[in-house]
Amino acid sequence: MKTLESNLKRRSFLKMGAAGIAGLAAGSLSGKETPPSQSVEQTRKGSFVYRTLGRTGLTLPVVSMGVMNADNPELVRAALDKGIVLLDTANVYQRGRNETMIGAVLKGRPRDSYVIATKVPAESTSEEYLRNFEVSLGRLGLDFVDILHVHDCSSKEAVMSEPVLKALEKIKRDGRARFVGVSTHSNEPAVIRAVVEGKFHDVVLTAYNFRQRHREDIQRAIAEAAAAGVGIIAMKTQAGRFWDKERQKPINMKAALKWALSNPNVTTAIPGMTTFDQLELDLSVMEDLTLSREEKLALHLEDEIPGSGLYCQQCGACLSACRESLPLPALMRSFMYAYGHRNYGAAYDLLQELDLPASPCADCGLCTVRCVQGFDVAARVREIVRLKDLPADLFA
Ligand code: SF4
Ligand code: SF4
Repeated sequence: MKTLESNLKRRSFLKMGAAGIAGLAAGSLSGKETPPSQSVEQTRKGSFVYRTLGRTGLTLPVVSMGVMNADNPELVRAALDKGIVLLDTANVYQRGRNETMIGAVLKGRPRDSYVIATKVPAESTSEEYLRNFEVSLGRLGLDFVDILHVHDCSSKEAVMSEPVLKALEKIKRDGRARFVGVSTHSNEPAVIRAVVEGKFHDVVLTAYNFRQRHREDIQRAIAEAAAAGVGIIAMKTQAGRFWDKERQKPINMKAALKWALSNPNVTTAIPGMTTFDQLELDLSVMEDLTLSREEKLALHLEDEIPGSGLYCQQCGACLSACRESLPLPALMRSFMYAYGHRNYGAAYDLLQELDLPASPCADCGLCTVRCVQGFDVAARVREIVRLKDLPADLFA
């Protein structure tokens, strides 16, 4: 792993190229937010900006590939050939086909030329967790992964679940994962702080984007984690990709990605890529992180339009007001997968996991829910649940 670990033994000195410093200055957060101080080492290799992932010592380009929505092996091949190093997948993506596809792409490639992160959801026993992880390794065709995340943690209890920690300990001891972490889509600051406190995990993969209302608290938690040597990877940086469900108003993807990376404590981001154009755009960000004034304005940090966008905060503020006790954050996430990412399979699979009545929101009358984002939650629920009764093989 020499090429990926060249900084492993180096002390954590800050090495920023001129362009990097310019990028951070221009890319500072919205006027009211305080840019965090930097604990993460940054350097340049060729034309790409690299940062070090906390105490793992892995040096990674600032942009990695979220493979979740991709099903084209040629795109993954091209990403690796052009300089992407970290591929992020999960045991549940595309019902396992995502890991299998990545495994086929990796065949024959030098093991030290890429970094693989996968995620396995928590289970109630260590044995079950270990079994599921072995399935992931089998699909990837690997003896070990570089980073294994516990998928979708939203509380301190989830981070510190004893059966899962026991399984992770064994996995690390057996050399089946070099580093372990957690992923989080909600309650992120508490999850990140639980990792810092727990001193067990090496990495956090956190939702982090310009649309999050609690982004300042996430930034503070990220800074604490970086100072403690926990590596931070950002996901959901594209905030649902569109301002509208008709997909007529795309979010400025470059600006969104640069905004996330303007936090110097974020080592790398994993924007989902499904086309070669997206890949090229993301590669260009790896060369120049400068967030221009125009790009910043395009993010509407100061003039948010209520009800716009597809990114649900996952804040749960709507839950108590719903007369049918619907799992609204999960339903909004499914809505985003379908309309923002056109990943109908992920939207469908998520709906199947939920305990929903036959016709959610159909007979409720006036909706009592008020979304903090101004979403018309009932309309979105009625729309997305139409997917749930379709035959499963449509999404196979
Ligand atoms: S319309 Fe739907 S979201 Fe609104 S209160 Fe009724 S069940 Fe809940
Ligand atoms: S629907 Fe609105 S209130 Fe409910 S979790 Fe999402 S952003 Fe929060």
